[in-house]
Amino acid sequence: MILHELTIGELTAKLASKEVSSREAMLACLDRIDAVDNRINAFISLDREDALGQAEAADAALAKGASHNEQSLLGVPVSLKDIFCVKNQPANCASKILGDFLSPYDGSVVQKLKQAGAVIFGRVNMDEFAMGSSTENSAFGRTCNPWDLERVPGGSSGGCAASVVAQECFGSIGTDTGGSIRQPSALCGCVGIKPTYGRVSRFGVIAFASSLDQVGPMARNVHDTAALLGAIAGHDPKDSTSVPAEVPDYVGGLDVNLDGIKLGLPKEFLGAGIDPEVQSIFDAAVRQYEALGAEIQEISLPHTEYGVATYYILATAEASANLARFDGVRYGDRVEGDDPFALYCNTRGKGFGDEVKRRIILGTYVLSSGYYDAYYIRAQKVRSLIKQDFDQALEKVDALITPTVPYTAFKAGEKTDDPLQMYLSDIFTISCNLTGTCGVSLPCGFTSSPKLPVGLQLLGKPFGEQELLKIAYAYEQATPWHKERVML
Ligand code: GLN
Repeated sequence: MILHELTIGELTAKLASKEVSSREAMLACLDRIDAVDNRINAFISLDREDALGQAEAADAALAKGASHNEQSLLGVPVSLKDIFCVKNQPANCASKILGDFLSPYDGSVVQKLKQAGAVIFGRVNMDEFAMGSSTENSAFGRTCNPWDLERVPGGSSGGCAASVVAQECFGSIGTDTGGSIRQPSALCGCVGIKPTYGRVSRFGVIAFASSLDQVGPMARNVHDTAALLGAIAGHDPKDSTSVPAEVPDYVGGLDVNLDGIKLGLPKEFLGAGIDPEVQSIFDAAVRQYEALGAEIQEISLPHTEYGVATYYILATAEASANLARFDGVRYGDRVEGDDPFALYCNTRGKGFGDEVKRRIILGTYVLSSGYYDAYYIRAQKVRSLIKQDFDQALEKVDALITPTVPYTAFKAGEKTDDPLQMYLSDIFTISCNLTGTCGVSLPCGFTSSPKLPVGLQLLGKPFGEQELLKIAYAYEQATPWHKERVML
């Protein structure tokens, strides 16, 4: 048995039977990080002592008879995107502007993970303030795709996906504003779910675009993803957009029976622009679903073509407002100036990277008087039309099925000079954020040369995570892709 290769399901069984201790599991992750992270660069900060302390506390609880029935993740090491507030730990959002900021409190997701007994350790790399699709926009250097170090892991939660796939942790928690959980999961070959807007609390998560941001887990298989989601989901009075809906037993709901399930193939997502090998792997996945008993129907989402433009107006508008708080006065680094205005300019000019500045400028523009109606209000109206498309489609079918990304992981540097090309990598993932619905990505095959993972996306009804995970699980159990492990 190689400890760092285990799934969360396997690890919790071994922790429960005392075959393995949480300290051993944590040490296995730390050894693995020492062995591979100089090549991957997933971790941007790591408090080993704190991690081992949490693991020892979990072992002590296990020794006293604590069980995984009450604490589902007891003793399981989980990494966190650098966007979550953990008391007395850094949270940089992969930016320089936060300097040596330490969070004064635990965010709600962190509290929930702690209540579930997880050992939360390490802050993993991301695009600065979650803006990007490749984890190249980081002040801490780029993260490499474990399948091919010259390629990107996707983004913005690229450090989460890479750390899961490189077996440096057993699962990871990321955020998804326009695809940032699903796109890196697809490009690295793990499972990731973006829950319905309101399903998981955003309290203690550094905000990018508040009407789109949602927290979600990434892991090696559907079971583990379901287990992590169960631990972090639920109403939180500290987030006014969090919904007081009951959290189902996601793991208990996993089932391989797809009888009566209808999947919709959105015709606007297919055809032009998809890499031919990705298309044929996707087609095979659709046939697999048919073989498993699902009924496939072509459906239409007529406003799909406006998704990327709508997203990049709304997300930048919200970002320009949210990021105003990083002014050198309240948090992190300060670059002095002769007057307050110069202080703001110097701090923000030096602290933010190019992509973040581009978004702030775009967002300020679309919100400025004279342009507000033409851009921002119009984009809100198109958002409603996209939502209507989804509502109508999801009345006819249980879930939509698409490739997660039109291509496999691209080479580092390939799209950095062309923001529009970079933005287009979100073309299949963005509508799910605009509509607030849930979406999962799971591996559905590998290209032959080079060998790179391909992701399948399933988009479900609001608060339909349980159904969505079940549909994903049935496919996963019938295919070998989740068992592939990278050689590093
Ligand atoms: N790639 C998208 C962007 O750059 C999505 C990012 C995200 O989901 N955080 O905005």
